[in-house]
Amino acid sequence: MRIEVLTLFPEIYRSLDVGIIGKALKKNAFEVNVTNIRDYSLDKHKRCDDYPYGGGPGMLMTPQPLHDAISAVDPDRRCVRIYLSPKGVTLNQNLVRELSSKENIMLINGFYEGIDQRIIDLDVDMELSIGDYVLTGGDLASLVVINAVARYVPDVLGRQESTEEESFSDGMLEYPQYTRPQEFMGLSVPEVLLSGNHAEIAKWRKEQSEKITENKRPDLLK
Ligand code: SAM
Repeated sequence: MRIEVLTLFPEIYRSLDVGIIGKALKKNAFEVNVTNIRDYSLDKHKRCDDYPYGGGPGMLMTPQPLHDAISAVDPDRRCVRIYLSPKGVTLNQNLVRELSSKENIMLINGFYEGIDQRIIDLDVDMELSIGDYVLTGGDLASLVVINAVARYVPDVLGRQESTEEESFSDGMLEYPQYTRPQEFMGLSVPEVLLSGNHAEIAKWRKEQSEKITENKRPDLLK
């Protein structure tokens, strides 16, 4: 899988160098290429923003640098072009799984008050939000998308980590987990987890999963 990122702040993506994602990138399990939109600005001061027509607060990203950067990075339109936006469809695990099956993805980041609508009309396949709140720029949202999607790319997670039994994998939240010590601050690990009876453990986990989902996220059960 190849992920192309278009941003005004490439340095933010240095955080991809660490942890599980960093290891996966080092062994080329997938690819992330970061392009600075400003490099494509034809303005003599490399400006990428201007006042919005009709007035209103803040600045807007101008279409020229964005359009040229998108066309240069994806001349044959192979990428699913995603504009990170609070107005987009909200990211969830099903969408993450779907995106992980794509060969080429482009993440287009907005800044200031966002981007000129004509870029969305001309160059964008989908608008994607990471939740009902507003960030100062798309980069943190892009990092969330990259992290969540990469977990489904083969060879990214080791044997120790798995996407199979965790929250949302089957539409439910995960059961409670315990590790050593067996007793901590007067609280014990549930007996069933020490029993070695795999059928009973699986039954207990399923029941817990259902209970937690019903309590915390009843909307998921609908
Ligand atoms: N004026 C815009 C609005 O009201 O919808 C908000 C612009 S926001 C300050 C700047 C940029 O941050 C957006 O263009 C988008 O790329 C990114 N962004 C902000 N919130 C986001 C969210 N919840 N999900 C994805 N991207 C977001």
